Amino acid sequence: MFALREIKLAESKVGRYRMSTTAHWFWCAEQAYWQARGIYAGAKRQKEVGTQIHKERKEEVKRWIWETSFLEKLDKFRQDKYGFVRRLGKDHVFFDVSGHPDEFQVTKAKKVSIIEINTTEISEKQLDFYIRYRLPIKQFQCQGYCFILEPYIKEIGYELDKIHAVELWHVKYRQEKGMRVLVKREPLASFPVFYYPVQFETELLRVLEGLQDHDMVIPPRGAPNCFKCKQCPKVYKEHCQFWRKT
Ligand code: SF4
Repeated sequence: MFALREIKLAESKVGRYRMSTTAHWFWCAEQAYWQARGIYAGAKRQKEVGTQIHKERKEEVKRWIWETSFLEKLDKFRQDKYGFVRRLGKDHVFFDVSGHPDEFQVTKAKKVSIIEINTTEISEKQLDFYIRYRLPIKQFQCQGYCFILEPYIKEIGYELDKIHAVELWHVKYRQEKGMRVLVKREPLASFPVFYYPVQFETELLRVLEGLQDHDMVIPPRGAPNCFKCKQCPKVYKEHCQFWRKT
């Protein structure tokens, strides 16, 4: 699957959404609304980090022959600029394979699980924070990848498993010539992700509706005085309907 991550993907726009943007709804719906209009904070930094981890993983992961065969078959469905796309009514959602190095587990019996890998600089002591605020986003994102890929996986004769995972890695960086260079990476925790297609699709439709209608956007609890607003990047604050009112 590594080759898939080297493509350059389009940003979200109304009607065509990166799955990471839809998942971001669960952090701040207002930020996700603006991401769907091409306004992103931190995209460059995320790309730098993703590329370094991708390179390391490419060297260390050894694949079984049946995994390679699955990845080659799946790769045929990839679209230029969008990666894997699934249509949902008049909207499309697509799979951001150029971000963090998501993985697949494929058994000999042709069952496929998706692993969403998430990196963090927080320590084990702050895991409660991650579980409460960050994990639901990553779980939704992983379910979104299941949703997008399920038809393709079926078409090539495999079966999507019901259980997937979010793996959390602790990372450390140093600054070098204005760039963040990865110096350490180790597994911190692993969380199961259960995928129920009907339930997920209902939830996804609700988010997509909200990404099109500013009146449906609900701010994070406690906004504009909550910790999310306090650490919110300027680029979102400049557009935010809740921040301006203060
Ligand atoms: S200021 Fe608060 S509500 Fe507005 S975009 Fe930022 S986090 Fe979201």
